[in-house]
Amino acid sequence: MMLSAMAAQKSTVDESQQAAAPMFLMENISKVYRTDLIETHALRSFNLRVNAGEFVSVTGPSGSGKTTFLNIAGLLEDYSAGRYFLDGVDTQGLGDRELSRLRNNKIGFVFQGFNLIPDLSVFDNIDVPLRYRGLPAAERKRLIGETLERVGLLSRAKHFPSQLSGGQQQRVAVARALAGSPAFLLADEPTGNLDSVMARQIMDLLENLNDQGTTIIMVTHDPDLAARAHRHIQIIDGEVAEVTRSSMRG
Ligand code: ADP
Repeated sequence: MMLSAMAAQKSTVDESQQAAAPMFLMENISKVYRTDLIETHALRSFNLRVNAGEFVSVTGPSGSGKTTFLNIAGLLEDYSAGRYFLDGVDTQGLGDRELSRLRNNKIGFVFQGFNLIPDLSVFDNIDVPLRYRGLPAAERKRLIGETLERVGLLSRAKHFPSQLSGGQQQRVAVARALAGSPAFLLADEPTGNLDSVMARQIMDLLENLNDQGTTIIMVTHDPDLAARAHRHIQIIDGEVAEVTRSSMRG
């Protein structure tokens, strides 16, 4: 009885295959920057598989390829060769519109320098990705209220970024990424320039989001934060050099 029910459900073979697919899969990704004089291999034979629900931290020396990796992972930059699957979708050959749709539907970003829009209020900054997703106004308002409460900034909804401290701006940037409960979150030094208390709070928020099912890849230079992830990888010379599993989580 159960088997036949399962067989009926499985008429969509694609769906069952997708459930088994990793959230993030890069196979032999390479990225070459070419100028008239030199070729720089920012990534070479880059392989990384991240399962749904994992929290992976990334460290590496300056110039090792972390930014290039994040930009490609976030569908903000093209790769030269290899394959990149996001939530089972092969990103090769997708056009700009398909890439932005995939990005808006799946990925949340917390980037260094916050990237808040200066002439939009806190509320409207958080609203931007939700609008891109086409959520109705009432739903967006509810989500923004809830998220601002989570990051302790409900009373700042009408403020502009310039009226906030660095730590508060970073919390708005995190709120913006959290509001849409993205399947996949990319964070670049999310605690950079914050004092240790604030850094821990931001990290707690990210862990909270991860506990709710969001897959996270976070670049950081902070070894203590890197150790809090399920898995810690290092990028050296454009390749994944080392993978360690943390005993602290998962
Ligand atoms: P990281 O973020 O780890 O500091 P990057 O990804 O920024 O490393 O850079 C990796 C390598 O690629 C470096 O050697 C850098 O100089 C080079 N690179 C990055 N972006 C460009 C670009 N737009 N043009 C040429 N070379 C680049």
